[in-house]
Amino acid sequence: MPVHPLVGHLDARQQLARAFRTARLPQVLVLTGPAGIGKQRLGLWLAALVFCAETGDEPCGRCPACRAVDGLVHPDLHWFIPIPRPKAADREKQVEEAEEALAQVLAERRAATLYPAPDPMASHGLASVRLLQRRAVLTPVLGRRKVFLLGEADRLVVQEASQEAANALLKLLEEPPADSLFVLTTVDARRLLPTIRSRAVPLRVNRLSEEEVAQVLRAGGRPTPTEEGLRERVALAEGSVGAALAQDEAAGAAYDAAREMLEAVLAGQAGLPARMERALRQTPWAARGEFTAMLDALADTLSEAARAAVGEAPRRPLPEGLRNRRDAAALVRAIERVAGAREAAAGNVNPQILLATLGEELAEVL
Ligand SMILES: [Zn+2]
Repeated sequence: MPVHPLVGHLDARQQLARAFRTARLPQVLVLTGPAGIGKQRLGLWLAALVFCAETGDEPCGRCPACRAVDGLVHPDLHWFIPIPRPKAADREKQVEEAEEALAQVLAERRAATLYPAPDPMASHGLASVRLLQRRAVLTPVLGRRKVFLLGEADRLVVQEASQEAANALLKLLEEPPADSLFVLTTVDARRLLPTIRSRAVPLRVNRLSEEEVAQVLRAGGRPTPTEEGLRERVALAEGSVGAALAQDEAAGAAYDAAREMLEAVLAGQAGLPARMERALRQTPWAARGEFTAMLDALADTLSEAARAAVGEAPRRPLPEGLRNRRDAAALVRAIERVAGAREAAAGNVNPQILLATLGEELAEVL
């Protein structure tokens, strides 16, 4: 699957295209701006512009070079993404491991064009920088240039060997090979090593508009079933697709917890205490927001079951025991119980106790 089309960032695109067409594009560029707004996607766009067979202000999207960038298979595009630290002791093996890890991440990104933020522990370690050095001296395969996209470039500083990695990269950025363009991205240029920052020309990338976030979510195959839901989600995302995706993950966890609870309730009196206990244990309510999100997911799942009970198609998968209910009235009573718990949750009530009570109430009405 090709990466989703670049949405928004028109000012940045114009500036970059103008600089490129007049041969004033800096060789080391750092795109800065909030997390999840598409800085690396913009970097891919710039790579396509540089490689494109046409000479417009946008990559044509049709030539072999553009298509190869969109498919993340262009041999002169080197996308470095933070990866877990290699385990091998041998340096050569570490580089191989880094290469494999990067190939793996790229394969994932080909499969799912919108991706969550990398693991907080992932970084650009010495092995990645070594790999980058090796690729930097290669002759371009298809065209006349190579593009190095270094996402979350500030993650270069989280390892003990970071000084060596930083120095190696610095050397490369001080005298970049003439056929190479380096595009770094970071949330805040001040997080970059000062020596690296001083060699990179910054370009500020802004938040997306709500409509643009919605467009990216649709284009990336992560739409929201209802228009109202989409609007809510986009409003909370504050111009960041990444923030919308993080919401998805949190919502996913809330729905998992809700399903676990409903399954415990539906398993019946005999199994209830043990299963409830497990459901409760599995859900560390780190924040009150998570607890209310779980109650909302519970109410939503029950109302989808009620839709199914009156013959409409549910908009999300239902737990086994709720799939073929015909008693919409019982489901509505269950939703009322959840709404009651939701109100109580606003006060200073222990979530575990509230949930245990709610479980008993639901078992009665369902
Ligand atoms: Zn093209």
